[in-house]
Formats: sequence, structure tokens, C-alpha cells
Amino acid sequence: MADDYVRRTAITRLSVDGEQHDVLEDTITEWKRGCQLATDMAWGKCNAKSDVQPLAYDDIREQTDLGSQHAILATHQAAQAITGCIERRAKGKKVSKPTFTAPTVKYDTRTMTLFDDDTVSLSTTENRVRCPLSLPETDDGYQRQYLDSDEWSVTESTLTARDGEFFLHIGFRRDKNDTERNTAEDGTVLGVDLGIENLAVTSTASFFSGRELTHRLREFETVRAGLQQTGTRSAHRTLVQSRGRELRYVRDVLHRASNALIDEGLRYDCDVIAFENLTHIRDRTGASWGHKWAFRTLYEYVEYKAEAVGISVKQVGSAYTSQRCAECGFTAYENRSSRTDFRCAKCGSEANADYNAAKNIGMRYVCRGQQSSRRTGDSQLALKSGTVTPKGGFTAYPDGFEAEFTDKPHPQHAEGV
Ligand SMILES: [Zn+2]
Repeated sequence: MADDYVRRTAITRLSVDGEQHDVLEDTITEWKRGCQLATDMAWGKCNAKSDVQPLAYDDIREQTDLGSQHAILATHQAAQAITGCIERRAKGKKVSKPTFTAPTVKYDTRTMTLFDDDTVSLSTTENRVRCPLSLPETDDGYQRQYLDSDEWSVTESTLTARDGEFFLHIGFRRDKNDTERNTAEDGTVLGVDLGIENLAVTSTASFFSGRELTHRLREFETVRAGLQQTGTRSAHRTLVQSRGRELRYVRDVLHRASNALIDEGLRYDCDVIAFENLTHIRDRTGASWGHKWAFRTLYEYVEYKAEAVGISVKQVGSAYTSQRCAECGFTAYENRSSRTDFRCAKCGSEANADYNAAKNIGMRYVCRGQQSSRRTGDSQLALKSGTVTPKGGFTAYPDGFEAEFTDKPHPQHAEGV
């Protein structure tokens, strides 16, 4: 976000009883209805908050159970969604009216209060709910550095329901100092490594298999080679048709992979998704022209989908990302014991080679400009179990958050996204 604040999100599970659970569920349902109602009314008419609010407020109050402040926030959410559509359309992209399906509800400082005893009070469709934050037992849980700080203040937050549990993504912000004002982006970075065996691997340890893409590309190239040899007119026509069909399959795989990467970025509240520089990817991976095209296309899909959800996409230099140890920084050719395995010759840490590279790519973006005196940056790298900064070291995600991810099968394919 390009403003004068450094923003961070602290994610915590909430301890709720049965009654609170039901009323929070109900609030989410009504929130989605409210946002949809405002969007339906304003779509094609207006998109400024100051226009959508007077247009839709009364209807939201009459037709949903949302309180007055949540009704206002719902009109703002609708305004923001429509504005996003208008901006994308201005860039020549296809847009359709937003629909609100995610099980979330927004909070601001008027609808949510944090207390010193680590409880939170939330506005709902009925009375306020006050419940404990389910924070880690240890004092060094990463949420503490924001909760206990005078420097960080609470800003917009989001309540999310998942698998019967509630997670509060508490937004914090603090003023940027002078150095930071000159820095481009702040926030959390997701590193992504592209390859053939694994199409994409993230610094949060999500694996998207490259098998289906390789299979599709091979069929594509075989069909083309076979038909070109026969050289007849009908063969040419068949070629054009089958190319179209194979191309659609390939694009479909790439769309699913790009959606999965965006989901991963959103799940970890990332501000930036960092890829390696695509110019040299063929040398490093030994990719065919087809794969090279696929990497570029995947990058472009991620780029435009990320824009819609407020994540920026960057490329970083790819030198030695596959030979450097993400744990200790030792860089050597011998670290690569095989194409798939990484074993550091210095510290002995072992990892999947692509996963190690994804962490290096993300960290390279986090550390960008650290050599120059003016640009210090204030970013952190998203890992599976927490975040890491160049100076501050590792901070773990809350227990419930981590447990939720380990339930997910890894490595995962991009299917069904
Ligand atoms: Zn090492």
C-alpha cells in the first residue's frame, strides 16, 4: 500500500463459545448480503464511497441485520470492489460485477476493540461478542510485538471463518520514518520458484506439480511435428484445430496454478509475490521454448490476478538462488547433491531444492536495496511456519494457524482451484 504507514497483520484464532460462534457466523452471512446489496445498487452508477453510502445505506439497514457502522463499512467495501473493476477495465481487462462469497467480515476501530487482557470485542448482528484471542503461550509470539507496542496502532481488521473456527486478521500500522518514506513497498513477501519438475514452489512450502503441464506441452509439440510432416491442407487445418485445443489445456493448467499462487499470497497476507528474473530461466532450468512460454504466461496471469487483490508482483535476480543455502547463506555448487535435493555443505541443512530456491528468491526481494544507504526496506518473507526478516530473525505464526496448514496435503497439485 503506497501511503505513509508501515502495515502489518497479526493473525490469531479466537476462543468462542457456541452462542458466540453462531452470532459471528450470522454476522458474516449478513455482511456478504450487505456488500452484495450495495454492489447491486451501485454497479454501473457510482463507485465513490461518498456516493455508494447514501445510495445503499437505508436498504442495507432495512434488508439485513447489520448494525449502522457495519452497514456503512459494507457500502465502502462495495465502493472499493467497484472501483477495482473500473481500474481494471481502464487497462483493457474484462470485468464483471463483484460477488461476495468469501466467509469474512471487515472491522474497523468503531466495530472492534482490543483489550489489554488479550480479549477482543466485536460488533455483530446482535450484541457485541467479547472473547479471548487464542495467542501462543510464549511471550515472544509474533503478535506481541504489535499488541504490546505503543508505536503500532490497530486499523482495519478482518474476521475469517474456516473449518468451524474463527481467525482474526488484526491490521496494525505505524508511521513510516523518513528513510522508509523513500522505500517502494513494505510488507510480506511470497517467494516463488518456477521449474519443470515442480511448476511452482512457494516459500510457504506449497508445491504445484509440473507433471500435467509437461504432459500437455509434449502433446502439443508432438501433434505439431507429426502434422507438419504430412503437409496437406487438411493436415494444416487439423493442426490449427488441435493447437487451439492443446493450447486451451495448457492455459487451463496455468490458470489453475496462478489461482493457487494468488490464494497462497492471500492466505499469508502477502503484499508482494517475488519471482526470479524470467529472462535467464531457460538457461537455469534447461526449459524448452514451450516451458519458457509457459513460465512467462504464468507470470502474466499471476501479475494481473494479483493486481485485482492488491498484491504486487516483482522479479529479482536469479543468480545462485539454487546454490545458496536459505538457512545459513552459504553458497556453493556442491550444495546441490542432485537436481531435486539441496544439502548445505556448511550447516548440513537439507531441503527440497526448489523450496530452498523459493525462499532465496523471496529473501532476495526482502533484502533488495539493503546495500544502498538510503533504501533500507521493511519487508519480511512469508514461510510456512512464520515470517523472517533480514535483521529481526524468525517469528512464528500462531499455533492454530500453523496446524491448519499442516492438515493440507503437501505437495499439492494445482487442480480444483
Ligand atoms: Zn547452510
